[in-house]
Amino acid sequence: MTSKPVTDQEKRKQISVRGIASLEGVADIKKSFNRHLHFTLVKDRNVATPRDYYFALANTVRDQLVGRWIRTQQYYYEKDPKRVYYLSLGFYMGRALQNTMLNLGIQSSCDEAMYQIGLGIEELEEMEEDAGLGNGGLGRLAACFLDSMATLGLAAYGYGIRYEYGIFNQKIREGWQVEEADDWLRYGNAWDKARPEYMIPVHFYGRVDHEDGDWSKPSKWSDTNVVFAMPYDTPTPGYGNNTVNTLRLYTAKSPNSFNLGVFNTGDYIQAVCDRNLAENISRVLYPNDNFFEGKELRLKQEYFVVCATVQDIIRRFKSSIFGCRDPVRTSLDAFPDKVAIQLNDTHPALAIPELMRLFVDVEKMPWERAWNIVRKTCAYTNHTVLPEALERWPVHLLERMLPRHLEIIYIITQSTWKMCPKMFPDDPDRLRRMSLVEEEGEKRINMAHLCIVGSHVVNGVAAIHSEIIRTSVFKDFVELAEKMGEKNKFQNKTNGITPRRWLLLCNPGLADLIAEKIGEDWPKNLDQLRELESFKDDAAFIRRVSQIKQENKMKLAQFINKQWGVKVDPSSMFDVQVKRIHEYKRQLMNALHIVVMYNRIKTDPNKDFVPRTVMVGGKAAPGYHTAKMIIKLINNIAHVVNNDPIVGDRLKVVYLENYRVSLAEKVIPAADLSEQISTAGTEASGTGNMKFMLNGALTIGTLDGANVEMAEEMNGENIFIFGLKVDEVEQLDKDGYNARSFYENVPELRTALDQISSGYFNPNEPDQFAHFVENLIKFDRFKLLADFQSYVECQDKVSAAYKDTYKWTQMCIANIAASGKFSSDRTIAEYARQIWGVEPQPNLKIPAPNEPLERAENTEGYKDF
Ligand SMILES: *Cc1c(COP(=O)(O)O)cnc(C)c1O
Repeated sequence: MTSKPVTDQEKRKQISVRGIASLEGVADIKKSFNRHLHFTLVKDRNVATPRDYYFALANTVRDQLVGRWIRTQQYYYEKDPKRVYYLSLGFYMGRALQNTMLNLGIQSSCDEAMYQIGLGIEELEEMEEDAGLGNGGLGRLAACFLDSMATLGLAAYGYGIRYEYGIFNQKIREGWQVEEADDWLRYGNAWDKARPEYMIPVHFYGRVDHEDGDWSKPSKWSDTNVVFAMPYDTPTPGYGNNTVNTLRLYTAKSPNSFNLGVFNTGDYIQAVCDRNLAENISRVLYPNDNFFEGKELRLKQEYFVVCATVQDIIRRFKSSIFGCRDPVRTSLDAFPDKVAIQLNDTHPALAIPELMRLFVDVEKMPWERAWNIVRKTCAYTNHTVLPEALERWPVHLLERMLPRHLEIIYIITQSTWKMCPKMFPDDPDRLRRMSLVEEEGEKRINMAHLCIVGSHVVNGVAAIHSEIIRTSVFKDFVELAEKMGEKNKFQNKTNGITPRRWLLLCNPGLADLIAEKIGEDWPKNLDQLRELESFKDDAAFIRRVSQIKQENKMKLAQFINKQWGVKVDPSSMFDVQVKRIHEYKRQLMNALHIVVMYNRIKTDPNKDFVPRTVMVGGKAAPGYHTAKMIIKLINNIAHVVNNDPIVGDRLKVVYLENYRVSLAEKVIPAADLSEQISTAGTEASGTGNMKFMLNGALTIGTLDGANVEMAEEMNGENIFIFGLKVDEVEQLDKDGYNARSFYENVPELRTALDQISSGYFNPNEPDQFAHFVENLIKFDRFKLLADFQSYVECQDKVSAAYKDTYKWTQMCIANIAASGKFSSDRTIAEYARQIWGVEPQPNLKIPAPNEPLERAENTEGYKDF
């Protein structure tokens, strides 16, 4: 390490994309900060802790949101545009402070104000807990979408659960993952606001009565258990447009009469204690990524959020200017013109039968009319084709917990398949394949099938994934849609990421340089990054891009040393794989490559070797044994490699403990190489891949998910593609895949596997990985052994390329310049136009709180939040 890197605080001052610090702005912030320290935190400078300072600043920034938030909601009430509802069981938001300052354009002022007070703003930012209310890509996508929906001026709402405990904190102890509870609300949350006035009852269990035995007629659901859903609203600001939308998260509250009512047993204390039982619904996020675990509490969570949300949507529709105009309720026919509901995977699928229940049982609507409204309102995003991830709820569970909903699902099944035999007379098996009710073994409801029939659009999340669902998993439904004349029912919406958090916020050095070259519009218009291509031979520019990467690497190296006491060489290649640990993502293949590199150094210590620091990070679901073994293995390999004097500085392995949004923001800007190595056909899209590309890392990857489109955006250059393609993987399965033959015929692979299985990396427990390796050679479900040779050869090309810093940096620039497509603004604009029927308003600017409102908007006050 030669020179100390410039701090981000210094860098942030250099351009105005983050707002320009004005004298008055800074003075106001200082005043407000001191006021909050005194009145809100009840502290003075002698006793205040860094956390107090964080909360004082967070409250100062929050104050700036409030007027914009109220005005935005007021504006929606006045204009009454179509509302978009994004329903998700996870919102992986990360930290809010810096993002809020950035989107409000007050970052520079806040930096300067803290500086003048004598505080380092970065240290305060580090005090904020991540809002880790998601598992991985799916939850983070929801968070990026909220940012883009606000930035595009859409009247959008996120709806989900306010888990008391988010994704667990991962500790690594003796190489093993250990989970700790994520008590993220312990010190309070500066950003959300309880809204008890919008509390909503949610019913479970009970029985159903029918008027004349007809399930499709209004029915009565009674003798239920009731839990209240208490909403907490979090503001989600757009970038530089004064729009502030709402993320409404529900927490479970027992009714005050809980257990004290009719069956009063006299045990008052026990009754009060038992309130916890009902409130457990929102206690904790289920930590599985891409895996279905049919637990009763999880089903309760899914219905809980859906039920509260759908009621809230209908309430807002009715109380809207449009809804009030039509008191005879024929207006519900206009529901799909005013409401779009997007289901983030099948997790909120019960929204479909819940809407039907409210329309038929409560609004007394005829079945067919209700069904048409529901289908026009809902749309479903599929996130995976892995069979173990698909939700298939046992009928007996639904029957007990949600008896009316099960009946409704049965009627949907019946009425939908009436037409099927007529349309496909030669295919009697089709009904069984397409049924919502799976009859083999334990009876189950296939939630994907429910979502498909109950939605007007179904989308995949990358071109290749959408093609796979069209031609294989949902093929029968595509054919049915064709027969019914539903032309654009199956669509693609390639995922994206918000360039505000994933470049402007996390990589200020690069953001500044880009702004200097192409202006300050790119955070709203990421396609403009193409203009960087004209600098691809500009030696001075190339040097600066390389310098910025170097600074980011030095900063990360310091962090790694401080956190985990590992010294890494910032001039080595930072080779990074960060994502949830899953067999299909093939962290194990990465580990085997590390062993190959280690063996090569050991065999011929004097041979030229391009130094690497391999970093792997990610959480394993607590019940996923194989994933936990992979973590242990990587840590064991790290221990041997890092302590071998022959290896020295040439190879280091770091396990990035507790990978989460705020750690991603530190790691990704410092990466040279991004590992996106899933088996072709398994990773639906990936979004981590996009974050790395935008930050000037090169990708080594398979033709899977959005990697395919990343390569396309660069005409197949500047990316390291290897391995089997989707059709080749399928062919291998048809021909009968023999993993062992690869083990036997690839010498470096065989050596590595033999070492692992014989205890080379764990001499204390030499048998630890024997079964693990044995299973891999026998089954290898994800074709790791088949792809290994191709992977290692590709890695060799990466190493060769890294030797030429100039050319490597040119490739990095080509990546950045081609990453515009992967802005979630583009993704959201496509959802808006092609699914929701609303037009993005990128130029909309709601008047700021210090600006006058138009007359009509000023008189009413805000009616609705
Ligand atoms: C982006 C992101 C993910 C998703 O990464 P993939 O590589 O697409 O699986 C997971 N976790 C966090 C914290 C992220 O920021």
